[in-house]
Amino acid sequence: MEIFDILDKFSFEQMKNVLVIQPHPDDAEIGCGNVIARLRDNNATIHYLTVTDGSLGITDEKFEKDIVRIRRLEAEASGRFLGASDFRFLNHADGSLESIPELAGELAEAIRETKPDLILSPDPWLTYEAHNDHIVTGKAAAQAFISSGLLRYPGNTATPPHQAGFIAFYFTENPNYVVDVSDNMEDMFKAIAMHESQIDEKTMQLYRMYFTYRASMIGQEKGYRLGAGLKILQPVMMHCFTEAGYYKP
Ligand SMILES: [Zn+2]
Repeated sequence: MEIFDILDKFSFEQMKNVLVIQPHPDDAEIGCGNVIARLRDNNATIHYLTVTDGSLGITDEKFEKDIVRIRRLEAEASGRFLGASDFRFLNHADGSLESIPELAGELAEAIRETKPDLILSPDPWLTYEAHNDHIVTGKAAAQAFISSGLLRYPGNTATPPHQAGFIAFYFTENPNYVVDVSDNMEDMFKAIAMHESQIDEKTMQLYRMYFTYRASMIGQEKGYRLGAGLKILQPVMMHCFTEAGYYKP
């Protein structure tokens, strides 16, 4: 018997309530827009949570004064297009995240309120990830994931505890699961293009080429025309568990 045999089995089709956590408006669409579209097609309820206000994403002086409002509208439009039904904005200043425990408490509240089966978050252990907002968000999501089932976490909470069954990291170099997104890439590109303040036509063309190439490579091993790689873990695997790296859901 293997240790994994006694743990819950993962079924993508059974993930009907999903919390998508993104450090900045646009990370979810770029990192896993195809997966979100596939969840939508499976009739999942999708909640979006954006940690920072995206205020550093000024690509043109014309956006200078209004960038936070514009990015919020873009996040809502693209998220809604991918099937999200509610949106939370923690409004931390872009580039300012420092405290993992503090953010973990805020994320745990959102987990307790939305009661997801699955949480999507950027992988904070991506080897050369240099953006601190991504590292702090990913680690805080992981801490919130393993702690939101505790009766008194975060301190003074009045919301009943909730334990999500699985976390799936996007922007990962160590995927252990491939989602068939053969019919979902177009929606991902449409959603990315809705971030008009961030992405011009040339970047969009590059994204289209690169992400399609990558998806065909990832899909190959499973026999899918296009695939998306995720690192999926269960709560028990994210604390003092030496076999987490070998888990194949
Ligand atoms: Zn980002």
